[in-house]
Amino acid sequence: MLRRMTMLGSGTSTGVPVIGCGCAVCTSTDPRNRRMRPGLQIEASGGTIVVDTSPDFREQALRFAVERVDAVLFTHAHADHVFGLDDLRIFNFRQRAPIPCYGPPETMARLRQIFAYVFEEGQEGGGKPKLELVAVTRPFDLLGERVVPIPVMHGEMEVYGWRIGNFAVVTDVNFIPESSWDSLAGVEVLVLSALRYRPHPTHWSFEESLAAARRIGARRTILTHIAHDIDHADLHVPVPPGVEIGHDGLVVELG
Ligand SMILES: [Zn+2]
Ligand SMILES: [Zn+2]
Ligand SMILES: [Zn+2]
Repeated sequence: MLRRMTMLGSGTSTGVPVIGCGCAVCTSTDPRNRRMRPGLQIEASGGTIVVDTSPDFREQALRFAVERVDAVLFTHAHADHVFGLDDLRIFNFRQRAPIPCYGPPETMARLRQIFAYVFEEGQEGGGKPKLELVAVTRPFDLLGERVVPIPVMHGEMEVYGWRIGNFAVVTDVNFIPESSWDSLAGVEVLVLSALRYRPHPTHWSFEESLAAARRIGARRTILTHIAHDIDHADLHVPVPPGVEIGHDGLVVELG
């Protein structure tokens, strides 16, 4: 049974504030406008699943008390989603077991390239994470939950959204193919990326994400992967009932 979701990071690839930026959001004192790179913790009765390991993963794990990681679901291998991968090793040490990591076949291949030292023999002292990369293309059972990969497009790149029971996350998306809309039917809690107000070549804009949220029709939709032109408390576009802007540390009870 799913218990709760914690939003580990709600920001786009730069994080917010953006280095060197003096804009109103980057200098805001509202803590909800401080956004680490994207990631989620999903706690279930069978264990803890993390979605993506951002460059901020260590700080997220400390700040939001990620106590164990039994599996990782990767959406894709862009830096903002994977560059905290090495910090998974602490969970290997504590749990004394390798951690299975699931994702699209291309993402698993990219992880092997980007983190070659992790998957090669050697490195004296052995301070490396122990991970089992599992390329998946179909639904599978994980820690007692049914997990469904949901292929969506991020520009030219196919990335995965993930459905776990009646929860789903879809991030870094600008097109959802018809069969994947079907996979999202009946989702109750949805995390969906909504980058910024202006159009972008590989991400839906805020209004495009709102249109997708309406079509999916979850009871609760939480927007993430947010850039510095969106002020948490001062939206330029009204959001419909059931849709909200996420923030780092947001906890949603799923059980
Ligand atoms: Zn991203
Ligand atoms: Zn800024
Ligand atoms: Zn991306």
